[in-house]
Amino acid sequence: MSPGQRVVVVGAGITGLSCAYRLRDRGFEVLVLEASDAVGGKMSSVRRDGYVVNRAANILPSSYAAVRGLAQDVGLGGRIGAMPVVLGVPRDGRMHRLRASGPGMLVDGLRTSLLSVRGKLLLRRMLVDALRMKGSLSYANLGAAARFDTETVAEYCERRLSPEVRDYLVEPILRALFTCNADTVSIVDFFFAAVNFVGSGMMRYPGGIDFLVRELASRLDVRLSARVTSVTDEPDGVRVSWTGPDGVSRVESADACVLAVSGAVVPALYPGLDASRREILTSKLRYCVTYAGHFALRRRPSEPSLVVPVPRAEDENLCVVVFSHNAGEACVPSPSAGLLSTYWLHEWSSSRRLRTDDEVIAEMLPAMAKVVPSIEEDLVFARLDRWDPAVVRSYPGWYTHVARLGELADAGGRIQLAGDYLSASSTNACAVAGEEAAGRVARVLAGGSVGSAVAR
Ligand SMILES: Cc1cc2nc3c(=O)[nH]c(=O)nc-3n(C[C@H](O)[C@H](O)[C@H](O)COP(=O)(O)OP(=O)(O)OC[C@H]3O[C@@H](n4cnc5c(N)ncnc54)[C@H](O)[C@@H]3O)c2cc1C
Repeated sequence: MSPGQRVVVVGAGITGLSCAYRLRDRGFEVLVLEASDAVGGKMSSVRRDGYVVNRAANILPSSYAAVRGLAQDVGLGGRIGAMPVVLGVPRDGRMHRLRASGPGMLVDGLRTSLLSVRGKLLLRRMLVDALRMKGSLSYANLGAAARFDTETVAEYCERRLSPEVRDYLVEPILRALFTCNADTVSIVDFFFAAVNFVGSGMMRYPGGIDFLVRELASRLDVRLSARVTSVTDEPDGVRVSWTGPDGVSRVESADACVLAVSGAVVPALYPGLDASRREILTSKLRYCVTYAGHFALRRRPSEPSLVVPVPRAEDENLCVVVFSHNAGEACVPSPSAGLLSTYWLHEWSSSRRLRTDDEVIAEMLPAMAKVVPSIEEDLVFARLDRWDPAVVRSYPGWYTHVARLGELADAGGRIQLAGDYLSASSTNACAVAGEEAAGRVARVLAGGSVGSAVAR
């Protein structure tokens, strides 16, 4: 690396910030441009009336090595820990509670009446299949699982399990992770989650889930309200055009650029993108739309579960409720207050794009009253976050494209891509994608240097 080599990172979500931090570690001069007025993207939180609301991501499984590694490196390692977690699955008017890690998980799994004895015995098949796939289910190269990517989760359940296991175990987990039902999602996503999350327990983190992105951003040069409009590769370096909060257009010159944004917006930002990746990102990549409804309560509901995945038979559109206050006091103003985050089915969310926030919240409340009967009288405020695009909506065959994107990762040279579409969308996958992109940039920039900002 030549001294003073300059890299522009587009997007201050966990992908962009992990990438920028690792580049800074390697000695590059890094500028992060973020379109919104806050950092974190889908790992951000907002604070209101003493409540800390995680706008999208809420849960960090303990198995998230990249997230843990970043936290360690920025001095937050001592502030994260393991947390005992209870999952609650409603079935026929009864809540079935299961500890989600440790020996308690096995005991509860054997004792629970959520599944019949036959259903539990069938789970051995799932274990055998998970062991067969395990070696191909890594964060950095999920394209390796393409050979298993031949059916939907529903088709797999039909072939290997039973309708009961699908309806009360497999599909609720899938809905909680992707806000999609089993009849569309690739089996790779399900096994990736089963192998990487089940039994790992969850991370306790300080305050909001934005703890990590805020710390990373505090060590970097991040410009907010800086919307990038195009990135081009010129003979003497990369040009990044952006518009600042004052509406003035500017051009940055840099030695390299990393586009750490949703794959849905990459083709428009990067006119020089090669035809293969352009084709994948424009016509193969699909995202789901997820509306998140957050409910701040003056009285805490008695439910002890942290996460309640909702089976389709219990409510078609409500996919999961997170009882955030059960993770600790830090997100609520007093020990008696409650905070719920709820995530809604892709089809339901996407068909409500034209409704106002108040209209959508009003539609959510009756379903919420089934889970927390006193919700309306205890409500301090409700907040809607519309994630559109939210997470990648996989389908059988999608991971062939992920494998191809992996093969072409170096094709961009000085302009690198990173984001949630390179693995199964999660904060950890994004942290890995950001770090990998930093490594590729460092390899590409073995010599030469340009730099400076030009206002236009
Ligand atoms: C509702 C929901 C719940 C989730 N729950 C979990 C969970 O519990 N646990 C988990 O691990 N994962 C969860 N995920 C997934 C995880 O949050 C995401 O995969 C991850 O945070 C995405 O990070 P990112 O940096 O790639 O993208 P983003 O967070 O979307 O960041 C991209 C950033 O780029 C900016 N940007 C876009 N265009 C431009 C432009 N032209 N110029 C400048 N900036 C631009 C955006 O404003 C944004 O800040 C959830 C996702 C959603 C949607």
